[in-house]
Amino acid sequence: MNKQFINNEWVDSVDKNYYDLINPATEEIISPVSFGNHKDAGIAIETAFEAFQSWSQTTPYLRADILKRAAGLLRENTAAFARDMVLESGKPMTEAKGEWAVAANLFEWYAEEAKRSYGKVIPTNRIDKRSAVIWQPMGVIGVITAWNFPSYNPARAWAAALAAGCTVVAKPSENTPLSAFHMATVLAQAGLPKGVLNVLVGDAAAIGEEMLNHPKLKKISFTGSTRVGKLLMDGASRTHTKLSLELGGNAPVVICEDVDVDAIARAASMARFRNNGQVCVAPQRFYVHKNIYGQFAERVSAYVSRLKVGNGFEEDTNVGPLITGRQREHVTGLLQQAKSENAEVLTGGEVPRHLSKGYFLQPAVVANLQQSSVLAHHEIFGPVLPLFSFDDMEDAIAKANDTDYGLAAYVFTNHLKTAIHLSERLEFGMVGINEWAPHGTELPFGGWKQSGQGHESGSEGLYEYMEKKLISMGGL
Ligand code: NAD
Repeated sequence: MNKQFINNEWVDSVDKNYYDLINPATEEIISPVSFGNHKDAGIAIETAFEAFQSWSQTTPYLRADILKRAAGLLRENTAAFARDMVLESGKPMTEAKGEWAVAANLFEWYAEEAKRSYGKVIPTNRIDKRSAVIWQPMGVIGVITAWNFPSYNPARAWAAALAAGCTVVAKPSENTPLSAFHMATVLAQAGLPKGVLNVLVGDAAAIGEEMLNHPKLKKISFTGSTRVGKLLMDGASRTHTKLSLELGGNAPVVICEDVDVDAIARAASMARFRNNGQVCVAPQRFYVHKNIYGQFAERVSAYVSRLKVGNGFEEDTNVGPLITGRQREHVTGLLQQAKSENAEVLTGGEVPRHLSKGYFLQPAVVANLQQSSVLAHHEIFGPVLPLFSFDDMEDAIAKANDTDYGLAAYVFTNHLKTAIHLSERLEFGMVGINEWAPHGTELPFGGWKQSGQGHESGSEGLYEYMEKKLISMGGL
């Protein structure tokens, strides 16, 4: 039984409810997990508020010592923690190990960055006056996160908030709580005082509502769907809770005529299907120049058809299961709708016959799509690579920007001028030029349009959890 982590202790939920955590690769029960609600969230918030009184008075140097020790422990325990991540998320082992490495880096990086949360002294227009701006920790932060990156999603918010001097009430996804529980254990081992971090899962709407309503919780950092992000915005308009929102994406990939088609097709077949396409910045809509469209479609289909679908524990697995049966239905439903619009499935799209259990789906490449297609406008969050074509740069820009989302975009070209023009005119928070990973611990991660507000990672991520204060002295 996995319990809640409140005040550095593992406790039952108030109502003593639990649910069964399911392995998406086998549909077997991994373990029962405590299922909390608003009552547990209320207790966690009060606990974190109490802890804030002393944690906010520590120096960033003391906080850094603890967070760096935690980073070290995460690295030491990667093998065991990666095993549990594969169990709960289904992702391949190499991806799970890589994700733990990034989580550890986040704790280490923020440990150092908080030491540099400099304020400034501002010259004023009066000789008897001095004015300065300082940064202070915001208070208790609620962190609600999605399942697709069970350690990275929580780590980037927890690390920044804790380094800033805030205390945290975290609600990871009910689908993947184990990784978050491991991070909580490690932080306590590293010396995090009681109540500074509290972790619970359960009735998401009730816990979210309690976070919004509780006057002692100052901000919610949310990573998840645009739908739930909007619900939180509605609630926050009542309670004035601050929000950071990292929401959905629908990333375009513009592939220009001058590239090495085979090399990009090969790389695309890996990048699109990382974590089974369940990635907010996943390259989703492939816009290929009309002169290379046929060749690209043929090459990418060949590479994608060779991807091995299977259990994440098997060494040669490229693509694991989707997280739930419901998520697989969502993806197959989109594929069905695309077919009814005359789309042509070049490869994949069916449930693999050799895998009778688990939420697997054969990676698909889909062609013959119009810009009006459902695959151009819905976040797929699954193993489908839709191919569109474009005529010239203006056409590519118009099609790429034709979405409510604005998280990431990708451009492949060997022309500097094209790269610069496209990067500046694409309406997205992150643009990768000739690369598939336009993000990193030290870089600001955030979406335009309906993909979010605020940033995680980088120094911007730290200031999401600090308040700016002006101190002005007169009569000097
Ligand atoms: P989701 O919105 O369904 O759930 C996200 C989290 O919100 C979970 O912890 C869930 O339990 C909780 N939740 C659900 N209903 C809630 C409510 N009414 N009030 C408060 N919390 C609630 O999203 P998901 O299916 O878990 O994740 C997939 C989505 O997350 C995709 O849209 C993806 O693009 C997005 N995502 C975005 C980023 C980013 O950084 N922009 C990163 C990862 C995932």
